Amino acid sequence: MVLVGTPRSAAATGPKHVRAAISYRRDIGNELWVVRVRPEVPIPFVPGQYATLAVRDGDRMIERPYSMVSAPHEEELEFFLERVDSGALTPQLYDVPEGGEVWIRPRAKGLFLRGLSGFDAPRMLVATVTGIAPFLSFIRHMGMLAAKGEDSVEDAQPLLVLHGASNSLDLVYQEEMEHWAATLPNLAYVPTVSRPWAEPSWTGEVGRVEDIARKYLDQAGLEHAAVEIFLCGNPQMVDKMRQLMVRAMVPDSHVKEEQYWRED
Ligand SMILES: Cc1cc2nc3c(=O)[nH]c(=O)nc-3n(C[C@H](O)[C@H](O)[C@H](O)COP(=O)(O)OP(=O)(O)OC[C@H]3O[C@@H](n4cnc5c(N)ncnc54)[C@H](O)[C@@H]3O)c2cc1C
Repeated sequence: MVLVGTPRSAAATGPKHVRAAISYRRDIGNELWVVRVRPEVPIPFVPGQYATLAVRDGDRMIERPYSMVSAPHEEELEFFLERVDSGALTPQLYDVPEGGEVWIRPRAKGLFLRGLSGFDAPRMLVATVTGIAPFLSFIRHMGMLAAKGEDSVEDAQPLLVLHGASNSLDLVYQEEMEHWAATLPNLAYVPTVSRPWAEPSWTGEVGRVEDIARKYLDQAGLEHAAVEIFLCGNPQMVDKMRQLMVRAMVPDSHVKEEQYWRED
């Protein structure tokens, strides 16, 4: 067993929000950015969980949930963020530079990847853009265990990760995912772009993740009755993938989702 239940928060009874210093920031284009933060108190979590980031607006906090990219063994919390111009929080978060600070709830939450205790079942993980975050947390965690020899990759079940974006710049963790695919023999990673005509140099897969999912599921030889599917990010992708998996006779109870926003 690799992951154990939801950890107790050290700050369960403390303040509602604590400060988190931004120790690192990387911008990708005009709308995406990666930050690492150091909260004032440790925030225990398991892969797949999210923290609630906030900025103060007068006497109230504006806050939203964000999945951890980092694995629990890492010192800082890492997030992969997208600015929504019409949004209440992200335009303000975007303005906080490296060295600045935000607020964070000292308790991680979420049950998205509950039950993932290793490479013990065949799985397909499907993400759009920032939806790769919880999957990276899990993969970094498993990579750390494999490096320490604490989890065997010998008899590991296949893990297929599909990651879609409109262009390759937005596949921000592509290099890291390729590293994990080269390191963990059961892991296959397929990045895909949906606007290849704007990027003639792109030689990878094209189309939305939901357009290529069935092909890769079958190519990987993943048995439809046994495979577990995890969907994260854009709600339209999640809905389409769920319908696709129903048609492919994947049991509904095997399909888990984390929609990052709701359609208005
Ligand atoms: C469990 C969970 C984990 C999440 N993790 C992440 C994460 O790791 N990274 C991340 O960037 N976001 C993540 N989100 C989304 C995040 O919580 C916010 O919804 C998002 O950042 C927008 O916040 P906002 O206040 O700027 O916009 P809001 O004021 O909340 O929304 C404004 C409008 O934009 C729509 N909208 C919200 N987000 C998007 C989007 N990305 N694209 C298009 N329309 C959108 C809303 O439906 C609404 O109509 C997560 C959401 C959930 C539920």
